[in-house]
Amino acid sequence: MNIILLGPPGAGKGTQSDYLRDTFKLTKLATGDMLRAAVAAGTELGLQAKQVMAEGKLVSDDIMIGIIRDAISDQNCPNGFILDGFPRTTAQAEALDVMLAEVGKKLDFVIELKVDDAEMVNRISGRFSCKQCGAGYHDTFKQPAKAGVCDSCGGTEFSRREDDRAETVAKRLEAYHAQTAPVAGYYAKTGTLKGVDGMAEIGEVTKSLEKILGEKKAA
Ligand code: ADP
Ligand code: AMP
Repeated sequence: MNIILLGPPGAGKGTQSDYLRDTFKLTKLATGDMLRAAVAAGTELGLQAKQVMAEGKLVSDDIMIGIIRDAISDQNCPNGFILDGFPRTTAQAEALDVMLAEVGKKLDFVIELKVDDAEMVNRISGRFSCKQCGAGYHDTFKQPAKAGVCDSCGGTEFSRREDDRAETVAKRLEAYHAQTAPVAGYYAKTGTLKGVDGMAEIGEVTKSLEKILGEKKAA
């Protein structure tokens, strides 16, 4: 099963794709996570992406398409993939169609999490994650069950993303409206797009996704 989760920064793509990855045994391909890992490792890609990300802009289509081309192989995605953060431009969506045709794969679901701008800012401003395993949390909406201890791995150190600062968030929202919002239109035209109310609470959004996927948890 191959899924794309669309939606603005802070919509809940990462939160829901973690759940879908674990439940349906899919490979999560989150381009933002891949870029942050490259920045942290100081690779050539990381050096190219660092400044662009800090400015809240998008990394070039050529770079991003190259990353996904390598990532969608059968070897990497034996049960299928969830794309989170890609495609982020219409050019990326077109390139993805070509890449999938080349390797004989197809998209089963393209689902947009719909959230308004004020909520995006709320979500992003309270977001933090476990330094050890990357599990995501929120100051108000999703705190660890035991304060200061990660639910997933027991880690006790957490971090906040550099680009989640208010000054960068405004630029990311601008980039979203100008470059990424049209991607939903691209999939609406081909009839593959489904929308979900991303303003609902986390568990409700998960239920809506499961209804669309029409499957129960993998054994
Ligand atoms: P994205 O991957 O789309 O940028 P995240 O999944 O990281 O978004 O979610 C952004 C923040 O909002 C996180 O702190 C997360 O815990 C929280 N969050 C995610 N979904 C919801 C929801 N439906 N209601 C409230 N908070 C949410
Ligand atoms: P995210 O974690 O999805 O919010 O992405 C963080 C940042 O990484 C974005 O603001 C962009 O600078 C960059 N990025 C992630 N995915 C893409 C993509 N598909 N195309 C271009 N830039 C991306």
